[in-house]
Amino acid sequence: MDNPLLDLSGLPRFDRIRAEHVVDAIERVLSENRITIGQLLAETRAFSWETLVEPLEDLADRINRVWSPVAHLNAVVNSEALRDAYLACLPELSAYATELGQNVSLYRAYLALAESPEYERMQPAQRKAIDNALRDFRLSGVALSDEDKARYREVVQELATLTAKFQQNLLDATDAWTHLIDDERRLAGLPPAARALARDAAARHGDQGWLITLEFPSYTAVMTHADDRELRREVYTAYVTRASDEGPHAGKYDNTPIMERILALRHEEARLLGFANYAERSLATKMASDTRQVIEFLRDLARRSLPVARTDLAELQAYARDHHGLGELEAWDVAYCSEKLREYRYAISQEALKAYFPVDRVLTGMFGVITRLYGMQVVERNDISSWHPQVRFFEVSDSNGVLRGQFYLDLYARANKRGGAWMDECIVRKRRGQRVQTPVAYLTCNFTPPVGGDPALLTHQEVLTLFHEFGHGLHHMLTQVDQLSVSGIQGVAWDAVELPSQFMENWCWQRETLPLISGHYQGGVPLPEDLFERLLEARNFQSGMQTVRQLEFALFDFRLHLEYDPGVGAHIYPLLEEVRREVAVLHPPSFNRFPHSFAHIFAGGYAAGYYSYKWAEVLASDAFSLFEEKGIFDMETGLKFLNTVLEQGGSRDAMELFIDFRGREPQIDALLRHSGLAA
Ligand SMILES: [Zn+2]
Repeated sequence: MDNPLLDLSGLPRFDRIRAEHVVDAIERVLSENRITIGQLLAETRAFSWETLVEPLEDLADRINRVWSPVAHLNAVVNSEALRDAYLACLPELSAYATELGQNVSLYRAYLALAESPEYERMQPAQRKAIDNALRDFRLSGVALSDEDKARYREVVQELATLTAKFQQNLLDATDAWTHLIDDERRLAGLPPAARALARDAAARHGDQGWLITLEFPSYTAVMTHADDRELRREVYTAYVTRASDEGPHAGKYDNTPIMERILALRHEEARLLGFANYAERSLATKMASDTRQVIEFLRDLARRSLPVARTDLAELQAYARDHHGLGELEAWDVAYCSEKLREYRYAISQEALKAYFPVDRVLTGMFGVITRLYGMQVVERNDISSWHPQVRFFEVSDSNGVLRGQFYLDLYARANKRGGAWMDECIVRKRRGQRVQTPVAYLTCNFTPPVGGDPALLTHQEVLTLFHEFGHGLHHMLTQVDQLSVSGIQGVAWDAVELPSQFMENWCWQRETLPLISGHYQGGVPLPEDLFERLLEARNFQSGMQTVRQLEFALFDFRLHLEYDPGVGAHIYPLLEEVRREVAVLHPPSFNRFPHSFAHIFAGGYAAGYYSYKWAEVLASDAFSLFEEKGIFDMETGLKFLNTVLEQGGSRDAMELFIDFRGREPQIDALLRHSGLAA
């Protein structure tokens, strides 16, 4: 009985989690949950918040308390045994979720509660939790006829298989191509770190020399830095034709039929659920109100950024011609010449900047920012064990000394840790009587670890990443919502969830913040004025071109799902051409098969939702603009953001919360100004 995975009394005991216990522990929680749900439905007569929603939230909480530490360890201290156990649990968890979503008795119980007099007397957060639950039941097909329900399950299952297959083809195609270089002169232009990466890759394959692969760090290093134009062309061609009918492995891992089938099935799923198309289905859980609003949003932004994008491109072409003798700017020259132009124009090196951002200085400064904005204090604790000696643990308390949240901070890259940066929930806030369950977050980054006796030094880009993830963490930790399913980031619309994170990034660009977050690691002098000026100038380098590229992806994704016609199929490439004619300034060569590797929409959660990135940027910029008006450390404005957005979590609609804070609906002006796109 002594299973540490089921110790729900406090912080997870990471040191006691064993891969061989994981499957058992999950199966036990799921089967106990099933029994509890059965009893609840059999024994309860009149359902109330306390007899229905609270017990179900507790069951969801139990799963999270057991699963979250396992999933987290799988990501940050991966081992084969743990990965096997993790993968073995996934089908069990998804079967449980489907079962719950299609449980008609449970659905009727929620429906009865929503129609009872009690519902009218509930707090808004409780009503929102019930509304969300009803919506999710319907999106799981609970209200369909038995025949449609069966078909729905088939569709969802086939989609799961196909999206996994899409991802697998992409991975296989990525791994299938390599290029071994034995003459280092061909690597001219590549920074030492990229060369070391290529040397390691060759050694792993048992080869001498340098191995160029299609993994992103290798690909991007060549495209950005390699002076050898032919090498760039080769790598570009292999990369943009992965998993398609073109390029060096044409037809071998071809995603074409899979993409067609995915779009057809998504359309069918949407129609079964009563939507006109999958774009409508996607918006059912988002802040945007209808498909027209999304299309207009993207087109409006395109109209405003195209003139700047055209200027960006003309400048790049002129520079490439005058400084590199490239009369015709090819697709494989764009990143390379852009990087050269950036260096030429701003003479700014991330290496020189790093000396001003030692990690402890940045952390102290970042915590100081939230003390000034929200009156919160962050204190480190050294008596909490975790999964690795590098991991630190902090507590956030408010101005009354009340503990609001706790977080693990895992900053550095190491072997067996997944790349990238993210925030995840360890424990979610809820209240049961007098007892509040304190929220706990994982903040994970992959910064370069400290070398020798020097502290770890961050690039400005890494400082931005840290602020971004801390913003997500604050959304999770500072919530005051007592109902688990809408507290913190729970229940927040997908296209609004990046608001608190992108919002936090703004403080990294403020002159007033620099004395807080920067200080040379030798001597402590803050970032000098002239360096900061150049950093600011470089901030919006090519922002027109970058914006229209994002809009091209977003508009393509959205129209692909909106305009799908079962009679004619998806028309993927003709549509992409149409979108490019409307919003693009760069037109890739005809062999480019970018959609075949667009995993965000074919294998990830961004289908008919890629627009969310830009959408949330508008919210974040517009929210920050109130601080520009009132003072970037104006505490009254800070507390208003805390009370109307961060503390509210998913307890009310994102638009309502935004209006509460800003006093009006979001406007695009601040984003245009911050991105250098304002007319
Ligand atoms: Zn984010």
